[in-house]
Amino acid sequence: MKGYAYQSPGEMGWVEKEKPRAAGIDAVVRPLMISPCTSDVHNAEMGYVEPGRILGHEGIAEVVETGNQVKDFKPGDIVAISPVTPDWRTVLTQKGVPQHCHGLLSGNVLSNSMDGLMAEYALVPDADMNLAHIPSGVDYAAAVMATDMMNTGFYGAELADVQFGDTVVVLGIGPVGLMAVAGARLRGAGRIIAVGSRPVCISAARDYGATDIVNYREEDVARQIYKLTDKQGADKCIIAGGDERALGQAVAMVRYGGTIGNVNYFTTPGDLSISNSRWGFGMSNKTIRCGMVTGGRARLEGLLSMVRYGRVDPLPLITHRYQGMEGIVPAFRGMAEKPPELIKTLVEI
Ligand code: NAP
Ligand code: ZN
Repeated sequence: MKGYAYQSPGEMGWVEKEKPRAAGIDAVVRPLMISPCTSDVHNAEMGYVEPGRILGHEGIAEVVETGNQVKDFKPGDIVAISPVTPDWRTVLTQKGVPQHCHGLLSGNVLSNSMDGLMAEYALVPDADMNLAHIPSGVDYAAAVMATDMMNTGFYGAELADVQFGDTVVVLGIGPVGLMAVAGARLRGAGRIIAVGSRPVCISAARDYGATDIVNYREEDVARQIYKLTDKQGADKCIIAGGDERALGQAVAMVRYGGTIGNVNYFTTPGDLSISNSRWGFGMSNKTIRCGMVTGGRARLEGLLSMVRYGRVDPLPLITHRYQGMEGIVPAFRGMAEKPPELIKTLVEI
């Protein structure tokens, strides 16, 4: 079978591999729609995966083969795939971090320790726990956006502990940040301040519930938030973009007792710094929470239910669609280059 794989830092290309076979609790799927994630781009740029690794962890697929212990899925089912497919039988999973079931990011299996979804076939570990049925009436492209973008953006809103009436800053409004805006709104935020610069993202942020826009290119972000909130700071900040200054900016812009929820993947080497005075010399009661999304079937089926019943529509995230396997190349390039009019790409295989 054919797959689109990491070759060397910044280099991707087609590879031929054996079609995987399903055994035990695993399933083989045939990807029908996939979307490249900015994390795939980070992995490819930084060389965080081994050469020849097929990338891709956002998609929907047809089940083609199941192991003899798979109970709830059968060949022919159209399913959404969790972007994080943890081993659900480990001590760290039982302690609440399935995404790190065997160590840092080890639940992020597809496109990391196993081949991902940018291929004619893919093996999904523990199908009953990591696949999700797509409710009738849910557009397949919307289901793809639910797998990782809604999942992660909403996770940011959860990590930041958004409560009714909160003033929330969403730092970065690519597809993840836009879903964080939608998630903050659903959790009852009052004011939502979205930080970005590209008009296409700013317009989408307003549609998803942003009440204010801050352009990080114009002036220091924390200073702008400080001014907008009458020097009080925001209650919560969700980091979904930004450079190595983002954590320090978030600490500076939240009020005493405020919470920061980070879902950004900081790939820049070196330390992230926080100003001691803005940290209140360790006395400010500001909380930082961070992480990769937990993954799994229950969470994904819940998100798909929210799409099914009209609580959120992730379809406007998709600005560019491509057809066929060969569409993976421009779709991936688009996510790497982020031209002004692009939010997210989709490939209909
Ligand atoms: P994206 O499309 O690149 O969006 C990044 C956003 O950050 C854009 O709105 C961009 O603004 C903004 N930005 C760039 N530089 C900034 C700065 N200096 N200050 C403030 N904002 C800045 O990325 P994405 O696809 O939404 O993904 C966001 C992050 O989530 C990535 O790091 C990705 O790897 C990570 N991720 C994490 C998980 C997880 O499980 N935790 C899952 C998926 C993705 P403009 O483009 O408008 O200028
Ligand atoms: Zn991802």
